[in-house]
Amino acid sequence: MGMRVHELAKSLNMEIKSLVAELKGLGMDVKNGLNTIDDETAAHVIELFSTPVKEEKKEEIIPSLPIEKLPILQERIVTISPSVTIGAFAELLDVKAGELISCLMKKGMMITINQSITPKIIQLIENIYNVQIEIKAPVLEIEKEDENKSGQKSRPPVVTIMGHVDHGKTKLLDAIRETNVVDKESGGITQHIGAYKVSLPTGEVTFLDTPGHQAFTAMRSRGAQVTDIVVLVVAANDGVMPQTVEAIDHAKAADVPILVAVNKIDLPDANSDKIKVQLSEYGLQPEEWGGKTIFVEVSAKKQIGLDRLLEMLLLEAEMLELKASYDCTAAGTIIEARLDKGRGPVATVLVQKGTLRIGDAFVAGLSYGKVRAMFDDKGARIKKATPSTPVEVLGFSGVPIAGDIFKVVSDEKEAKQIATQRKDVLSFEKQPLVRITLDELYSQIQQGILKELNVILKADVTGSLEVMCDLLGKIGTEKVKIKVIHKGIGDINESDVMLADASNAIIIGFHVEADTATKRLAEEKEIDVRFYTIIYELIEELTEALAGLLEPKYKEVILGVAEIREVFKASKIGVAAGSFIKEGKIQRNAVVRLKRDGKILSDAKVISLRRFKDDVTEVVAGFECGIGLEGLNDIKTNDIIEAYVMEKVRQTL
Ligand code: GDP
Repeated sequence: MGMRVHELAKSLNMEIKSLVAELKGLGMDVKNGLNTIDDETAAHVIELFSTPVKEEKKEEIIPSLPIEKLPILQERIVTISPSVTIGAFAELLDVKAGELISCLMKKGMMITINQSITPKIIQLIENIYNVQIEIKAPVLEIEKEDENKSGQKSRPPVVTIMGHVDHGKTKLLDAIRETNVVDKESGGITQHIGAYKVSLPTGEVTFLDTPGHQAFTAMRSRGAQVTDIVVLVVAANDGVMPQTVEAIDHAKAADVPILVAVNKIDLPDANSDKIKVQLSEYGLQPEEWGGKTIFVEVSAKKQIGLDRLLEMLLLEAEMLELKASYDCTAAGTIIEARLDKGRGPVATVLVQKGTLRIGDAFVAGLSYGKVRAMFDDKGARIKKATPSTPVEVLGFSGVPIAGDIFKVVSDEKEAKQIATQRKDVLSFEKQPLVRITLDELYSQIQQGILKELNVILKADVTGSLEVMCDLLGKIGTEKVKIKVIHKGIGDINESDVMLADASNAIIIGFHVEADTATKRLAEEKEIDVRFYTIIYELIEELTEALAGLLEPKYKEVILGVAEIREVFKASKIGVAAGSFIKEGKIQRNAVVRLKRDGKILSDAKVISLRRFKDDVTEVVAGFECGIGLEGLNDIKTNDIIEAYVMEKVRQTL
């Protein structure tokens, strides 16, 4: 059977040439008028080209199948992978592919059976079939662990320098780099590639070039933990300052050990004992006082104590037993990336396991490629890079993002496939991340998502901060403990939000504020930020949240308003309201209320919605339609039907 294209063109009153072009555009294998297409496809094509699609679009009414023809879907929630084709999708929905395509074509979507679904298609199908579609993460990821634990060897520690502004972080990084390069035979000029490695007779240490806890936490919030040891720089002539405390908390939240470098000891007013006393209060007790923290006195400016600092870092690394396989498939993290005019995308990879070699195919975030060339931090070309080595890599398909995980895969084809699949997932923008919020705290505890509620506390004065800490410690329950991961004096800042993001915490402000940039960041990262001026209120609200008693706040959002112009009898439902949509839209299954003379008479549900003789899923403002309300027969002309939803109000700043 089937139909020749020229016959089809004739029946559609179209030129053969243009129909062939259209069919090709739809992905069909058609070359000329003599080709045959099957009856089902022909029917769709006729439907498509004889329907005034544009006009329908203008009306914005979804031309769904008549209700009785809609297949009854058993499952209301269908889970799919983002790269699924229309054909496979139809199968999952248990409907005919042709039917699905026909529905979509009516909506002006030109698609073929082998095309991948898109967010737009999903939305349409959700409306048409009244199902909820969930996107599942791709399954093709490479999680094969080929690491042979017994074959692991020790690797150099990766170090980040943190501390208060002006305490000498940058100077210290530079000083270490300089002293180490002088006696290098390569004589290469140091390159700033985001990290560098220094060599000692007893071992090697890798330093990340971006000091400060913001970069550290930003990486962590992207899931990358690259730092093994934090060097906390404190100026001996100054003391513990707000960012010193922040740095301590950021390192603790990441569970990274701290080594203290008391800097600027060349200055006459340097007092390192004072620093030791102050830091002891934050749990950093020097070894000589019976504690566990290594303190090293240095002067970045006069280059004093640098060798000892490096030695101590190696000692700490030894205690941490940092190990990695050198012969497994290489993996690491992107430290820095940019687009170089001459060389294309260039990124610094910190190799964390395995050995990276020229020619290796890899995927990093959304980009992929093949290692074309590698350079070390002295600018020298290298052929391989072992764990804890930072290398500049050429050969990326695009510029990755700092914090992206870098993984070697079997070949470039697989790399491309994984990167493409990740892009597909991203395009759906349905993020599975579960954010901790007070409103949903209880259910998150019940579901076992949450065992510990991480809290960042900011207050105007130390007194309140201490009181709050004390009280919070007492209200934890058996199922969930409250853990203050950072507390500080002053307004809530971006660094607090970054920490909350990385540690999935909530932020509590007491008598403090937050600037616009911070508010924006908190909103973007969906961090629950709460402000209080009365301690009692804070404690009460938290206690309620823990017990599941905190009622989330809702606000009403009106979706559409219709005026009843005529009441008529309808066989199945009793009466129907011939209405005119004045505002917004009315959808089938919408929750509505009936109003008469400004008073609410009753709540109801829209069980049928018709335009002329067709059942439709929604009707927008400016159009007339018939509305059937569930169990509601007392309706009159001039009554108002108002569709609304209750939206959960997020606590905003
Ligand atoms: P950062 O903000 O922590 O990166 O601090 P910088 O490295 O920019 O240093 C701040 C200032 O302190 C600069 O003027 C440095 O020259 C100075 N500085 C850093 N280390 C030392 C040191 O060991 N001794 C003295 N006297 N000054 C230092």
